Amino acid sequence: MSDEVNITELQGKYPDGIVLSIVVPCFNEEEVLNIFYEETGKVLQQLGLQDEQRAEFIFVDDGSCDKTLQVIKQLRNKDKRVHYVSFSRNFGKEAALYAGLCNARGFYTAVMDADLQDPPALLPQMLHALINEGYDCAASKRSTRKNEPVIRSFFARKFYKTMQGLSDVPVVDGARDFRLMNKKYRESVIALKEKNRFTKGIFPWVGFNTKWFSYENIERAAGKTHWSFWKLFLYAIDGIVGFSTKPLASAAILGFCGTFISLLFIIFIVIRKIIFGDPVQGWASLVCIVIFLGSMQLFCMGILGVYIAKIYIEVKNRPIYIAKEQE
Ligand code: UDP
Ligand code: MG
Repeated sequence: MSDEVNITELQGKYPDGIVLSIVVPCFNEEEVLNIFYEETGKVLQQLGLQDEQRAEFIFVDDGSCDKTLQVIKQLRNKDKRVHYVSFSRNFGKEAALYAGLCNARGFYTAVMDADLQDPPALLPQMLHALINEGYDCAASKRSTRKNEPVIRSFFARKFYKTMQGLSDVPVVDGARDFRLMNKKYRESVIALKEKNRFTKGIFPWVGFNTKWFSYENIERAAGKTHWSFWKLFLYAIDGIVGFSTKPLASAAILGFCGTFISLLFIIFIVIRKIIFGDPVQGWASLVCIVIFLGSMQLFCMGILGVYIAKIYIEVKNRPIYIAKEQE
């Protein structure tokens, strides 16, 4: 039996309505959008989803400063399956994904990067998993970190290790945002309206049955990545703060241990003074201890500060994105 869903199966199960929505966040992707559209179009053709009543693309232009929006509009002119939301500025990939999911209408929704690092050829297998095997979501991860800079790989691994230790949700190493989900799953994801969005945590947080597909890392079809090392670092902090309160608890534990050790130290000094009548000494060690404790306090206040900053952003309750136009 084939593990790909086929046209007859799909048409039989869904005689009408939009079967598949494809959400694509785009930030300065003028070079790859046409290739992406062609490649994904071929797979839709294979699935018999050529009609605007049966499938839709939702391109989310995340405040691009190149011709991304024009390219999307050209695609819209020749294919009515193409829809778009264009942001008033760059709000980030997480906001773009959210906007896309909010606007999707299909029974199934796929989220894919525009650069073809997420192979559209996997869609029929993913659909098969949801339709025939009873999964709610099909997720993807890369099996290797081939073609990735060594330093980036190293820190990415460290991040996943830390995340797995700290967070209550299982964040899978190498998981990509490429997913196919059913309506229930999509609605659960958009029910989480937090401003500090970390999709890699939100997806496992909502639960449901997920089937994993792994594939070799694929290089960008064209253009270049938008993630600098600094951006990735901040993203990692977002992930940790968004899905774990353990750093806060660790600050308290650190403080407790420090107090305990210093108590032992005080007892030792007092006894030594009583027995030996110790003269004043240890200026250098005293300075070291003061600096150590001062830095430790600053460090713990920093942890607290990061959480307070996130609370501040949440309570202001600003919208996750602002759309300038949409069709
Ligand atoms: N992206 C976005 N807003 C941003 C940065 C990226 O919508 O601020 C989109 C980008 O256009 C692409 C996807 O997110 O479709 C993944 O970005 P990229 O390929 O740069 O990331 P990488 O694959 O290198 O992790
Ligand atoms: Mg990419």
